[in-house]
Amino acid sequence: MADNADAIRTTCPYCGVGCGLRVSENKDGGFVVKGDPDHPANFGKLCSKGAALAETLGDENRLRFPLVDGMRSRWDDALNHVAMTFKNVIREYGPDAVAFYVSGQLMTEAYYVANKLMKGFIGSANIDTNSRLCMSSTVAGHKRAFGSDTVPTTYRDMETADLVVIVGSNMAWCHPVLYRRLVESRKKNGTRVVVIDPRKTATSDIADLYLPIKPGTDVKLFNGLLSHLAAKGIMDWDFTKNHTSGFKHTAMEAYLEGNKMDGVAEICDIPESRVREFFEMFATTEKTVTVFSQGINQSSSGTDKVNAIINVHLMSGRIGKPGQGPLSLTGQPNAMGGREVGGLANTLAAHMDFDAASVDRVKRFWSAPNMAHAPGLKAVDMFAAVKSGRIKALWVMATNPAVSIPHSLNIRQAIRQCPFVVVSDCSTRSDTLKDADVVLPAATWGERDGTVTNSERMISRQRAFKKAPGEARPDWRIICDVAGFMGYQPAFDYQGAGEIFAEHAALSAFENNGDRDFNLSGLTGLTKSGYDGLEPVRWPVAPDAKDRSAPQRRLFQDGVFFTPDQRARFVPVRYAPPPVDVSDAFPLILNTGRVRDQWHTMTRSGSSPMLARHRMEPFVEMHSLDAKRYGLRAGGLALVKSPLAEICVRVRIDNGIRPGTVFTPIHWSDTNTANAVVCKLIPANVDALSGQPELKTTPVSVVAFDPVWSGLVVTRRDVAAPQVDYWTKTAGKGCSLMTLSGSGSPESWQIWAENLVPGQTFDWISYSDDSRSIHRFAAFKQDRLELVVFISKVQDLPDFGWIEQQFSEHSMDAAMRSGVLAGKSADPDMNKGALVCSCFGIGINQLLNAIAREGLISVDDVGRVLKAGTNCGSCRPEIQALLENRQAA
Ligand code: SF4
Repeated sequence: MADNADAIRTTCPYCGVGCGLRVSENKDGGFVVKGDPDHPANFGKLCSKGAALAETLGDENRLRFPLVDGMRSRWDDALNHVAMTFKNVIREYGPDAVAFYVSGQLMTEAYYVANKLMKGFIGSANIDTNSRLCMSSTVAGHKRAFGSDTVPTTYRDMETADLVVIVGSNMAWCHPVLYRRLVESRKKNGTRVVVIDPRKTATSDIADLYLPIKPGTDVKLFNGLLSHLAAKGIMDWDFTKNHTSGFKHTAMEAYLEGNKMDGVAEICDIPESRVREFFEMFATTEKTVTVFSQGINQSSSGTDKVNAIINVHLMSGRIGKPGQGPLSLTGQPNAMGGREVGGLANTLAAHMDFDAASVDRVKRFWSAPNMAHAPGLKAVDMFAAVKSGRIKALWVMATNPAVSIPHSLNIRQAIRQCPFVVVSDCSTRSDTLKDADVVLPAATWGERDGTVTNSERMISRQRAFKKAPGEARPDWRIICDVAGFMGYQPAFDYQGAGEIFAEHAALSAFENNGDRDFNLSGLTGLTKSGYDGLEPVRWPVAPDAKDRSAPQRRLFQDGVFFTPDQRARFVPVRYAPPPVDVSDAFPLILNTGRVRDQWHTMTRSGSSPMLARHRMEPFVEMHSLDAKRYGLRAGGLALVKSPLAEICVRVRIDNGIRPGTVFTPIHWSDTNTANAVVCKLIPANVDALSGQPELKTTPVSVVAFDPVWSGLVVTRRDVAAPQVDYWTKTAGKGCSLMTLSGSGSPESWQIWAENLVPGQTFDWISYSDDSRSIHRFAAFKQDRLELVVFISKVQDLPDFGWIEQQFSEHSMDAAMRSGVLAGKSADPDMNKGALVCSCFGIGINQLLNAIAREGLISVDDVGRVLKAGTNCGSCRPEIQALLENRQAA
């Protein structure tokens, strides 16, 4: 293993910013993860998630051995079983009776061979990816407008723009390093920023103008902008005339719809003055980049929203030029790589489609015996086909559909009913494993080699720096091995990920005369050492690109697009309200999304104690007016109900959210909480073109749930959750924390506590005050703290951070033991409260104490005193909010 001087260079496994990392081993055999100063996505910076990666490298929650019907199996037996079962199903029912559901967590190489196996050798296109839930509306919108799925802009364009419009994206939390780049460039260049979002998130802290748009009305807003630009004559006539088609139709549609300022303001429910200001800012600023993300994509009209945005850039000619154009941000680390290899059921490899010429080309390139000729089933339709019995064998790779696809109770039932389910994953913490017939352990970040592509088309290497636990293998190898057992060994006989990449590059260049955007011809001859040393490179990579770090050709700078007539297309789009509206029974609109310090269903980020402290429990965020109206209090529990299900979560009050709307994060699963899978509530309404589900506008009600007691259980080792109404588990340093609530009390709390750790002989101490229903227990083994239990009728639970620290003590004398039962330190700064700054472990109580004690008035002041906010900067908006609240008070 390399020392610090020549650390392994790799890429972050989380969001689509795609930050470069340097990983080195420390003296204790652990790892140090730092930002790579030479990587063009982050120049050394990391957010809290990237900075905490070393905490997630433990092997505790890893799948280590193949399992068949729950029993450990030899690899070859398991692989042969998978191959033979798939073959039997195909022989009996045809190739469309099997399906792969894959993931933006896969390396491009694994994605490539999965797609090749399904589309070229099995003969079906039933392979779809969880990126369907993330950005497929952008893919569909790009293809309608450009004839290709091309992101025309880069991060540098965003930095050099004079105006950045951020719509449907909480960049500050979901793409934090890119957000920091914008903060810096704004400081330096005076870039103006407009934020359009129903929630006033941390991103709007830098907004010169914030538009609190009504959910689902973005098409109306951007059509209104189109009309305004046309009326003001803000058009690039030359560009529109020479390089686009369909303008007249689109502009007329926009006019016909009556996109006058007041109508737009009314439908979008934004004060007319702000709409006017936005339109004027856009009209008068040539160098404009529009950044968008899941708030646009995750919609039943997502594709139209994307095209409404692209239309205004086409009409103003603001595309293909420095500092101008639309920039979609992908959620996952390799959503783009998946797009490049045909990971979506409706695309072929190397950005080709199911037209006859492309099918024939790919068939010849692969020497494919059973080439698929038509698109397969998109994610939601795929699981409907599993449920109806049309699909009889399903392989889920590196994703957790039981939690992440809307109407998730239905998805679970489909998986349960499916005759044969294979799950290949790295983690034991996936709810989808519960109903798998075969479980295949996969190597994960740090253990596998491959490439990923970030949101600005930059391909970067992920490199292995540690051995996978047990018998876990890289995904590409698992897929190729199954292909081999199915009889396709010669076509899948790769000696390493680099050989797959070389083939992928060769296919992109195969019969590509410049009529396809995705072209890696400059990488086709890559040797093993060339692959090992591959520097970040943005595609297209020209055949003669000797210096791959040199700036690549700017796409669309010549006004040539990838449509048959080489013109970009205006797409006329009309505003349509979301398909389901609020009612008396379900009067609030549920929005969903991410929190700052967690990732997807927490199978990796959930094991970091540092990340867990930011938001420890699942929650519903709402405006104080709604909380008052529905009888809810901050910190209390609530049931969020839709016609499909109900979940139980904590209430947070935040007046940045639009009254009438609420927000719940997507991260919690049945593995880490009793009942908070938000996708249980959401119906499977999809965009007709992209197949992307609507995840932002579900009508719900929120009612208070008042438990009789609340509790905190902290154990040295993870224990099973007891049968109670509510529980949530989070990782602690050297311990596991569980918050609980119940409406029924046991006869003996002592027996209840002992049953949490059955079969263990511990020394117990306790404190009870029946009059106040307070019960506290601590258990020790050889003077070492093993477990604490705090139960209370009122919610006066101890400081989590302080309790966590007690588990780092190797032995405790009598005074320390009693102190544990007191539940707090005599030093107020030791009672940190919820974590705000993950990098330096600074909690909210520490911040509030320091602000009051030292009279701090700025985020920089706070950084000077506590260091909080001085590293990755992800917490700076929250510190700013604390300062503002304090000043307002
Ligand atoms: Fe990873 Fe954070 Fe960079 Fe995203 S912004 S790639 S999560 S370090």
